[in-house]
Amino acid sequence: MSFSYQRSSALFKEAQKVIPGGVNSPVRAFNAVGGSPVFVDHAKGAYLYDVDGNKIIDYIASWGGPMILGHAFDPVVDAVKAAADKGTSYGMPTELETKIAELAVSMAPNVDQIRMVNSGTEACMSAVRLARGFTGRDKIIKFAGCYHGHSDSFLIQAGSGAVTFGSPNSPGVTQGTAKDTLLAQYNNLEQVAEIFKQNEGGEIACVIIEPIAGNMGCIVPQEGFLEGIRSLCDENDSLFIFDEVMTGFRLAAGGAQETTGVKADIVTYGKVIGGGLPVGAFGARQEIMNHLAPLGPVYQAGTLSGNPLAMSAGITMLSHLNNNPDIFSSLAQKTERLHKGIDTVLTEKGMPYQINRYGSMMSVHFTDQPVIDFASAATGNNEWFKKFFHGLLKRGVYLPPSAFESYFLNNALSNEDIDKTIDASRAVVAEW
Ligand code: PLP
Repeated sequence: MSFSYQRSSALFKEAQKVIPGGVNSPVRAFNAVGGSPVFVDHAKGAYLYDVDGNKIIDYIASWGGPMILGHAFDPVVDAVKAAADKGTSYGMPTELETKIAELAVSMAPNVDQIRMVNSGTEACMSAVRLARGFTGRDKIIKFAGCYHGHSDSFLIQAGSGAVTFGSPNSPGVTQGTAKDTLLAQYNNLEQVAEIFKQNEGGEIACVIIEPIAGNMGCIVPQEGFLEGIRSLCDENDSLFIFDEVMTGFRLAAGGAQETTGVKADIVTYGKVIGGGLPVGAFGARQEIMNHLAPLGPVYQAGTLSGNPLAMSAGITMLSHLNNNPDIFSSLAQKTERLHKGIDTVLTEKGMPYQINRYGSMMSVHFTDQPVIDFASAATGNNEWFKKFFHGLLKRGVYLPPSAFESYFLNNALSNEDIDKTIDASRAVVAEW
């Protein structure tokens, strides 16, 4: 293999002088896998082209989905260009905002109204504020290893970047904030029931969850887990928030609510909904959304919320998915092909591993224990993960650079790309 990273390494050194850690989001720095991050020049379809001229098959799709249809998807690019010609921000309402809201509401179950924001972090932060405002209660329940963005209430043993850096509780989050976030283990319904019991008398505003977790690898909810939380929320007049920032418009038109059949009270979106531009959103039934400013007292706002470029990209992306629902099953089939291929390679090698998969999300864990929550995800052998990651990167395949992240397939990937990835995996483990 003759992959060179000279220019990427040089750019990383330059970046570190003026950007903390050289990156604008921690996981990009490769701290979990070592080495120098790859700097991208451009991307098209299933491939990233880096600044050293390497062509790389992409399995992160810009972290969870903005690139679900492949990079630089022509209709999205054209829509953004056309919107830019008309001005890039007005701070006044546009018809585009109503169009995307109509489309999203028609696709998302149990959502009458939706509010656009600029990131998944904003969406989850606002959803929790709305849940607190609606119920008049302070406490929330979240799950160890689930990531809901970096707002203070969630950085309580959060997954993703925070775990990678081994500092689950970020300095800067106050004790006052931390005391209102109660933590449970994913897939542990008894624990959730116990927390509700300990906080009887109407203290819990909401439970927030990644219905299929993607921030500790891919973790699938066990039979009855989400249904059980739904019942506990109903019994305690608490709201159930589905954080569908990763799963929304990726697993199905109706996201995880559709695939699991479990109803959420508030749903948050991000990633796919913006088609690669900075967009998040949260939606709920009318009765809940009525509490939001300017209708109600729960404040939430944004200068660039509903930005015309972002809305144009999002409308094009959602329309395409809505009009071509086969994309969801095609993505799932491709993921299954990758799963089976890597499964065979690792079985042949005779090493301990687990592969988790749900729809177009998947992760490989180098452990002999079933990976069902954060603690079991943490039993994975990180040295093997690093070798697997770098071995594949050398062969032109980009996996998430942390064992605590899910792969996300995009629809531009061909069976040939997937087979090349499987062959590359075989070559990587043959070296061990
Ligand atoms: N929720 C989930 C499930 C996520 O995976 C993420 C980001 O990865 C977020 C929220 C935060 O989204 P953003 O990075 O757009 O702020």
